[in-house]
Amino acid sequence: MSHDILMQLAAMRRYFESGVTKPYAFRKQQLLALKNAVIAHEEEIYAALLADLKKSKEECWVTENGFFLAELNDALRNLKHWMEPESVSTNLLNLPSSSRVLREPLGVVLAIGPWNYPFQLLFTPLLGAIAAGNCVVLKPSEFAPATAAVMQKIIESTFPKEYILYVSGDGATVIPEMMNGFAFDHVFYTGSTAVGKIIYKMAAEKLVPVTLELGGKSPCVVEADANIAIAAKRIVMTKFSNAGQMCVAPDYVLVHTSKKEALIAEIKKRIHQFFGDDAQACENYGKIINTKQFDRIVQYIPQGNLLQGGRYNRETLFIEPTIIDGVGIDAAVMKEEIFGPVLPLLSFTTMEEAKTIIAQNPNPLAFYVFTSDSGKEQQWLDAVPSGGACVNNASWHLTNPGLPFGGRGFSGMGDYHGKSSFDTFSHRKSVMKTPTWFDPALKYPPLKGKLGIFKWIIR
Ligand code: NAD
Repeated sequence: MSHDILMQLAAMRRYFESGVTKPYAFRKQQLLALKNAVIAHEEEIYAALLADLKKSKEECWVTENGFFLAELNDALRNLKHWMEPESVSTNLLNLPSSSRVLREPLGVVLAIGPWNYPFQLLFTPLLGAIAAGNCVVLKPSEFAPATAAVMQKIIESTFPKEYILYVSGDGATVIPEMMNGFAFDHVFYTGSTAVGKIIYKMAAEKLVPVTLELGGKSPCVVEADANIAIAAKRIVMTKFSNAGQMCVAPDYVLVHTSKKEALIAEIKKRIHQFFGDDAQACENYGKIINTKQFDRIVQYIPQGNLLQGGRYNRETLFIEPTIIDGVGIDAAVMKEEIFGPVLPLLSFTTMEEAKTIIAQNPNPLAFYVFTSDSGKEQQWLDAVPSGGACVNNASWHLTNPGLPFGGRGFSGMGDYHGKSSFDTFSHRKSVMKTPTWFDPALKYPPLKGKLGIFKWIIR
């Protein structure tokens, strides 16, 4: 098994080195082939995501296949321009040379996906890597098996194995086998911080560059001057989408004490409006991926006072949209990423108080602040170092391909989406071209006596 995979990786290296993946025409053709295959498998993708996570078609379109197609169309529109050499100015020291930056494919790259958006989070890096002219190994999460099977079918019916290789199986076995036996040119990993560290260590052994898209506790601050009705609506929509299993879900809410009651009332109203009396029966409400995650999430519920929800069913992997308050900041629910439909609501009176709570879990993947005061907005953005942020919104920043998406520190390194995906999978090669008609003796030894003129030129 191990030997087979290593042979296949060696074949990919040869395919890359043949140069076929580099021309614009090839890249465009592969992106179109991927687009057509995804469109042709639309119904199978919906059925798989329904089976794995009880996602509705509408939710799939916005967060999985539709999201992916929007990114792909953006790449198709801009690829030619992205590939063009970028001219940069040349300093006095080097005149009359000219300077440019070329985008070079990296080679054979590995993309590793998680289970929560199993399609989008594997195929979006894939399209970036194809656009940049690479060969790609795809490793899906083993915990969303129906989606993994459809993705495998799409890949294997569209691309030769030496170009795009789909590798399934247990991540803890198959990934070390590949990374220890083969020097990838880049590893793009999306998943938990704990496994991210394992990937980073393995990559370090071979000095392989990595992009790590990790998780964490994304705080959501609601200021006294916020539009409370809008804040509640947007928080509820994002927090309970995919039953809270979203890397950028608001993990907990910090609301100004003066607005706590009003916010709770609005949140309850919206939960009822969006998911009805029985969220389990609601086709817009998802399920937890498996019993391991279910057991982890339900133990957070008794760590606070129940304000809303709290019902669950292990058979159907259902956990109701749940709001709790009165949680201690040392409780597990305030230390671990919740990654489920449980929302702790804490209150604050001073910014310092709120900042102390946020600082317990530094560098969140996202930070959200609801306020109508642009001064406060800037103060908050300055106060919380995070991967990305939204003002009066939650999570939608990642749907704009113009915004690089990624974490910092514990929430990851590197970014992608739109042109950033292309850049992530390209090497920026700096090139200087120097004419031969001009070759002043000044540059060459003997240097004695030239310090004055050097100081004038390099000042
Ligand atoms: P995970 O770490 O369990 O698994 C992710 C991938 O790593 C899977 O493909 C798995 O096969 C592989 N893997 C698991 N154990 C491994 C090991 N020991 N060695 C090598 N590979 C291994 O993550 P998950 O539970 O699927 O995803 C949830 C986490 O991902 C959350 O923390 C969430 O916040 C984060 N996440 C981040 C983003 C983002 O864009 N930043 C998006 C989605 C999820």
